[in-house]
Amino acid sequence: MSLFRPCVERMKGYTPGEQPQESGWVKLNTNENPYPTSPAVLQAIERAAGRLNIYPDPLSTPFRKAVGELFGINPEWILPANGSDEVLTLLMRTFVGPGETIAYPYPSYVLYETLGEIQDAQVKRILLNPDWSWDLPRAKAELADVKLLFVPNPNSPSGTLWSDEDLLALVPPNGLLILDEAYGDFRDQPHRMELLKSGPGSRIIVTRTLSKSYSLAGLRLGFAAGHPELIAGMRKVKDSYNCDMLSLAAGEAAIRDQSAMLANRGRILQTRQRLTVALTKLGFNVFPSQANFVWATHPDRPHRSIYEFLKSNRVLIRYMSFPHAVGTGTQSAPAGIDGLRITVGTDEQIDRLLVVLEKA
Ligand code: PMP
Repeated sequence: MSLFRPCVERMKGYTPGEQPQESGWVKLNTNENPYPTSPAVLQAIERAAGRLNIYPDPLSTPFRKAVGELFGINPEWILPANGSDEVLTLLMRTFVGPGETIAYPYPSYVLYETLGEIQDAQVKRILLNPDWSWDLPRAKAELADVKLLFVPNPNSPSGTLWSDEDLLALVPPNGLLILDEAYGDFRDQPHRMELLKSGPGSRIIVTRTLSKSYSLAGLRLGFAAGHPELIAGMRKVKDSYNCDMLSLAAGEAAIRDQSAMLANRGRILQTRQRLTVALTKLGFNVFPSQANFVWATHPDRPHRSIYEFLKSNRVLIRYMSFPHAVGTGTQSAPAGIDGLRITVGTDEQIDRLLVVLEKA
């Protein structure tokens, strides 16, 4: 007899990207920022470290205030969490009961599916077109019973961006649209939560992370932004102290040091352009990315062996395959699509990647 809940017994679990702990790797597989964390953030951590004998502020007020000022919204609209992955978990636990339906575009961030399985929800994959666009009439027809629709924008693994018009058309009639903006700061035109302030804004929750654009993946801090009534409901579900004192102090300093974030963002956008051109010259198809990674496919080389060759040269990228996705049915993924997701590193890291790729 199994002691597991049946939904846990059935599920496979999510496999995160490889995290080698020894040095010597060119690590371009999990979309981390290659540039160091701002010194102002490190100083804030040091200051906070003197107060670790007491619990952190359960409402994270100074952090929420900083975020509110940045985006021009009231701090009541903000709920911080232990990484934006925890925000996704909180959304699931707050809004989705067993047997209810969640949906997400496929291919995208498959963690949504895992979190839905843990909650014993029905999970709907809404198939994207091969060019990563939505088949809007078909998508809308699938939304009637959807409680939460999770949409990463820019999308992963494609790096592509959907228009506000598309997103507004996708608000589920009986549920919420969760806009996962983990990569939002790398857009050509970053925005200030405009959709939240729009008419249907009370049916949208935006999730954000400090992992990528603020070089804080090791710290674990993200937040939800949404209508105060929705946020108040989520607050009932979260652990009292879901964010620790060091993260909150660091997060507040990071949000207040926009110039550090923007300088690194600028460098990443330049390198992204150079990487896109270089990969194209090597025969890859690269979708125009608005994130800190690119999605590259090759018309006739098997993607997995390229990934393995790079790995044997200590260059780590992400090989990804999406069975049953609407694809062109390439040789390497006849029933679905596969490809290579490459994080935009420093110029030196990308030089190394390109040297090894040429050998491949
Ligand atoms: N959303 C997307 C689309 C992601 O790719 C990631 C990173 N894996 C996250 C959310 C979670 O980021 P974090 O938990 O580090 O905030």
